[in-house]
Amino acid sequence: MRSHLLNDTTAERYRRSVADGVGRVAARLASVRSPFSGVTPDALRPEIDAIDLDRPLGDNDSALDELERVYLRDAVYFHHPRYLAHLNCPVVIPALVGEAVLSAVNSSLDTWDQSAGGTLIERRLIDWTAARIGLGPCADGVFTSGGTQSNLQALLLAREEAKVAEDTHGRRRLRVFASDCAHFSVQKSATLLGLPADAVVPVPVDRDRRMRPAALAAAVEGCLAEGDVPMAVVATAGTTDFGSIDPLSEVAAVCERFGTWLHVDAAYGCGLLVSPTRRDRLDGIERADSVTVDYHKSFFQPVSSSALLVRDGATLRHATYHADYLNPRRALTERIPNQVDKSLQTTRRFDALKLWMTLRVMGADGVGRLFDEVCGLAADGWRLLAADPRYDVVVRPRLSTLVFRYIPRDITSPAQIDRANLYARKALFASGDAVVAGTVVDGRQHLKFTLLNPETTVSDIAAVLDLIADHAERHIATENGGRLARAS
Ligand SMILES: *Cc1c(COP(=O)(O)O)cnc(C)c1O
Repeated sequence: MRSHLLNDTTAERYRRSVADGVGRVAARLASVRSPFSGVTPDALRPEIDAIDLDRPLGDNDSALDELERVYLRDAVYFHHPRYLAHLNCPVVIPALVGEAVLSAVNSSLDTWDQSAGGTLIERRLIDWTAARIGLGPCADGVFTSGGTQSNLQALLLAREEAKVAEDTHGRRRLRVFASDCAHFSVQKSATLLGLPADAVVPVPVDRDRRMRPAALAAAVEGCLAEGDVPMAVVATAGTTDFGSIDPLSEVAAVCERFGTWLHVDAAYGCGLLVSPTRRDRLDGIERADSVTVDYHKSFFQPVSSSALLVRDGATLRHATYHADYLNPRRALTERIPNQVDKSLQTTRRFDALKLWMTLRVMGADGVGRLFDEVCGLAADGWRLLAADPRYDVVVRPRLSTLVFRYIPRDITSPAQIDRANLYARKALFASGDAVVAGTVVDGRQHLKFTLLNPETTVSDIAAVLDLIADHAERHIATENGGRLARAS
């Protein structure tokens, strides 16, 4: 069994084994004709359940053969131009080189004595990102597993900072303000932090699904009038459903007026930080106290790759706990950089290396141009939808999301339109021809394209819209046929 351990004597075996695995993926990518096979959980589960985990196959080739059957054959492929569903990007090759290196060396970024240069590389990337945001000379941050964790940590810091106010004024309730379109991890974080269920106050949005600053100001004033503490405002720079960007400067002005922590959730919109033409859409983000960025959403990075940035690095102390065996207090005076002092995680992947390789090979502009392309594609797609009588389209995209709804030729009830749209999405998924997302807008079922693949074209969008219309019409015909048959 020692022959399976990676070391000096097995380096050649390592090279061949990993190359075999990479070869399987490469062959699959070359042959995939649709983003999904359409397999159902019921069809796939027996194949996976039938595998006896206590009887190993003994060699990589057999295990890879099996993996073809239970995973690679039916995986959902984000690189395919007709994968238009969630916030999953195709990944860039330099990042995959980084991924291969980081998992083999297996540095752990909690302490300097488990990572050495890895820690310094992560710190450079944090500084680089903070500078792109414009957070100033005291900024700091840390890589995280994703936007959910970044948001949780941001609210943890905000809560600890707000506790100062709480203590001086006696027990008061903490309140978090986020728009109706904010990510659900804001609510989840509040719960994890022990805040009551009603702690997150929803702020109304305008027609473009952007937080209304006047409504925010009124809500914060109401909170103060109740004797409560406005702990944080979460502005979203790129809502998950619409890609809408809250008016950051106006929201920042409200936060400055009331001394409230401003967190900007730019999990999706962070790609604009490197956009050569659209950076101004994030104007005001530099006034945030903390910012979430998900490189695995709009920097074409493999999961996981995210970071939390803060204006005042000292606030990260709220995540600092010392252990004699790991990061003793004296390490601080010895100026040993231990990233665990800033993180909610202990053992932590060197995910930063993927972004490092990407920037060193492609450069920031290279990434930004790719993100620009998908924003441009969304603008073209919006024009297509707006001109198409079969569809209602919700908001003009600021990023790369299109939300729309199929409207049948013959007038039917809104509920029937809901069912037709739901059905079209399911039928499309089952066919594997394309994958699209769904969401509810103003109580009605809608469909959603999240465009993150520069290889997707306007004709792909047009073709998928035709497929959706076909499925929806078929469903309506079946429902109406059934009704006619019952009536006769
Ligand atoms: C995706 C998303 C998140 C959550 O990020 P994960 O990386 O999936 O944990 C948070 N906020 C917004 C706006 C998002 O789009």
